[in-house]
Amino acid sequence: MGKVIVITGASSGIGEATAKLLAKQGNPVVLAARREQRLQEIVKDIEAAGGQAAYQATDVTDRKQVQALADFTIRKFGKIDVWMNNAGLMPQSTFDQLKVDEWDRMVDVNIKGVLYGIAAALPVMRKQQSGQFINLSSVAGHVVHAGSGVYAGTKFAVRAISDGLRQEEAAAGSHIRVTVISPGAVATELPNTITDPATKKNVDAFYAEDAIAADRIAEAVAYAIAAPEDTSINEILIRPTKQI
Ligand code: NDP
Repeated sequence: MGKVIVITGASSGIGEATAKLLAKQGNPVVLAARREQRLQEIVKDIEAAGGQAAYQATDVTDRKQVQALADFTIRKFGKIDVWMNNAGLMPQSTFDQLKVDEWDRMVDVNIKGVLYGIAAALPVMRKQQSGQFINLSSVAGHVVHAGSGVYAGTKFAVRAISDGLRQEEAAAGSHIRVTVISPGAVATELPNTITDPATKKNVDAFYAEDAIAADRIAEAVAYAIAAPEDTSINEILIRPTKQI
């Protein structure tokens, strides 16, 4: 059996592309997100292509559901080799619009969802004495622009959380690796979470010009997973060639 890989936010975009690629490479994948119908269809596609896959409807803002996802994976495949904290949303807007509900959602999904993933998988990986977290940050985890303050804040947080975890696990000698993937513009449904019309228009124009395919990010994830166990790919920052 290949590596057992759990992917949150696997119902579209980067998560879907990564699940399909990793399954094609012989790894059993467990797909999680809220849209069950889409997960079902993707699992069918993977199985039709000869891969092994399962899904569990999961809202990553609910710690119990994230724990249930880990429990389901252990029941189904007996271990968790890789946990990819990928679920995320990007409803960008300027602070003066006070879209506080959207700030809450970004903190809940982009930060707390990652923490709940760590809480669910770390004890399993500690017991196994091996494992890998793949956490999705962003170019926005490195650079802030007007209108992206909260989203960037969540993605800076993912890098901080990941580095803290990486340092602790290295010091503990647990053989657990932590990889941050930081994409630039990728053609997915992500901009659809933007509710401010002016921001949406700007982001759509930017993505229309520049965005790369989700498959490019899937390939980066596959590279980080395939690295020998004594080598930890700490972070991959990957932009469209034209993106500044
Ligand atoms: P998509 O919108 O295509 O995918 C987002 C995924 O997150 C969906 O599968 C969605 O599934 C899931 N999701 C959202 N909220 C929840 C929730 N509460 N619980 C569980 N799943 C949830 O966008 P991308 O593929 O682009 O995004 C994937 C990650 O990549 C995100 O973390 C994003 O911030 C990051 N990223 C993307 C970039 C881009 O340009 N596209 C650039 C940099 C980083 P469902 O709605 O079914 O729950």
